[in-house]
Amino acid sequence: MTDQQNSSQSAADIEALRERYRAERERRTPDKAARTYLDMRESFGEMLDDPYADAKSREPVDDEVDVLIVGGGFGGLMTAARMREAGVKKIRIVEAGSDVGGTWYWNRYPGAACDVESYVYFPLLEETGYMPKERYSKASEIREHAQRIAQHFGLYDHALFSTQVSSLDWDDEASNWSVKTNRGDSMRARFVVLTTGPLNKPKLPAIPGIERFKGHSFHTSRWDYAYTGGSATEPMTGLAGKRVAIIGTGATAIQCVPPLARDAKQLFVFQRTPSSVDARNNSVTDPEWAAALTPGWQQRRIESFTAQFTSRLDIENEVNDGWTTLANAIREKLAAGRSVADAAQLLEEADFEKMVEVRERIESIVDDQATADALKPWFSLYCKRPCFHDEYLPTFNRSNVTLVDTAGKGVQAITENGLVVDGKEYEVDCIVFATGFEVASDFARQAGFELHGVGGLTLPQKWRQGMSTFHGLHSRGFPNLFFISQAQSGMSVNFPHMLSVQAVHAAHVVGHSVANGVQRVEASAEAERNWTDKIVELSGARIKFLETCTPGFYNNEGGRLEAQAKSMPYGGGPLEFIQILQDWREAGEFEGLELDGKPANKKGESK
Ligand code: NDP
Repeated sequence: MTDQQNSSQSAADIEALRERYRAERERRTPDKAARTYLDMRESFGEMLDDPYADAKSREPVDDEVDVLIVGGGFGGLMTAARMREAGVKKIRIVEAGSDVGGTWYWNRYPGAACDVESYVYFPLLEETGYMPKERYSKASEIREHAQRIAQHFGLYDHALFSTQVSSLDWDDEASNWSVKTNRGDSMRARFVVLTTGPLNKPKLPAIPGIERFKGHSFHTSRWDYAYTGGSATEPMTGLAGKRVAIIGTGATAIQCVPPLARDAKQLFVFQRTPSSVDARNNSVTDPEWAAALTPGWQQRRIESFTAQFTSRLDIENEVNDGWTTLANAIREKLAAGRSVADAAQLLEEADFEKMVEVRERIESIVDDQATADALKPWFSLYCKRPCFHDEYLPTFNRSNVTLVDTAGKGVQAITENGLVVDGKEYEVDCIVFATGFEVASDFARQAGFELHGVGGLTLPQKWRQGMSTFHGLHSRGFPNLFFISQAQSGMSVNFPHMLSVQAVHAAHVVGHSVANGVQRVEASAEAERNWTDKIVELSGARIKFLETCTPGFYNNEGGRLEAQAKSMPYGGGPLEFIQILQDWREAGEFEGLELDGKPANKKGESK
């Protein structure tokens, strides 16, 4: 069966599509060696340097704060903002970058933009009185918004930038954390929040010969404008006359391929698995629409967006974009008389139909048939991050652009002069690694520092048998410490939504402790065990789905996932997770936490 025939096939022929998806997965999975990555800290440390650094020399800090937050991205900023609202006074953000912004600090590659609607993605729009300029914002506007939040809530006051925490040690006697950094700081913090982000460590594939390349190379999250010239929005004049290779075709590459093609003499796009790329249709914000919004509009819109990824189809779809298209398709099927009892089947059908459309779109845009066929994704829409872009596919019609499809195998080797695929060498002057980030399955490694809890307990010791937390936020043995991540917690494709939920919750616990003189907050063993059991119990559907997907970072590169059940997000869905936390706060009992070493009573006081 040819690609052409498959594309125009009716979605009713689901079994044939299932078979095709299976074949695509299987032709990728066996070769694990081709799917290993290097620890850049060991072999390419200089590529991690901060190209945007504005590191000012300063004296080491030696003081005490109420709350110390590791990470100045949206998670850290929202947590700090909510702590401020909860009455916490001395809050310090410690951030490796030279300013706030997190992922939006680091990712300044040309074309960088957010693929989630700005009105739901930008945190705290109503609180800061800001309205994004466009429906899908450019990275610089998002970075500026991070700065706006920091200014609005007075978060620059005690912040330490270009600073990395090197150790965190719990002091049982003083009931606080001793915090050391790579800048010689030695501080005390009553509470610590870890919000280092799920994808903060760039990674390079372990392609044989990668260290031999004599040309220039960099990772997309450390874009080398000193080499390329230009900026995220201006032409990269340094690339005129240059042959450039980009490795990877994920959400990042989709955005930076068009500007690279515009500015380089020649561009080779090395693809292992194509992304699904649908229309973007961006637009500027309509001032009349913005003026008509009523208070509380942003929270309603955020919740509406997240609801579209759950069974809550009774919640109106306010966003109505490519992300929520499957929810709309299911609504249509129900309106046409299909039964709600067939929800899983309806979702699968809607998904297959969408992916047929995505492949037909490629066919209608890309002129060269072989290139069009190679660009077609054969997997379920949410197996990889769905992409939306209006210039990516037309780029492959340019005469200076070549798609080098590696048939799922990846680049075979790198030489002094270029890259090898299928025995053919492609000579280039520059390699751009759009190869993604390490996934935070190992929190301690991801955070990149030593963490010692009660009696010197480390996270690898504590989580030897897998992660265990209460609500994803607390882990026994690490009092007064909050983990902000997706593991054992809520997950939404709109990352800031769940970050805001966790921020509110952490601020509630800390605000209560500060107001009531509680020195030590720790999850009870029972609460932690119950929560972790629940995570495992509800992880089945997600694991089953991910194991049908082509390999990638979502599914441990195609490996088995049962061992990771304890690190899965809450399987009841984000809205249920939000409700659990909300009910818990409203109950006011602090059940599952020990306050000053004793179970909390009905009023949240230690007994
Ligand atoms: P990804 O991990 O999604 O993509 C890495 C790419 O590199 C994949 O296409 C991968 O192929 C490819 N690759 C890896 N090794 C090789 C190799 N040896 N040879 C050839 N190709 C290789 O990283 P991204 O930076 O694109 O995206 C990471 C995440 O960042 C996204 O999922 C998203 O969460 C976030 N993001 C968000 C954006 C937004 O708008 N909000 C924009 C950009 C990123 P394969 O697929 O086969 O593994």
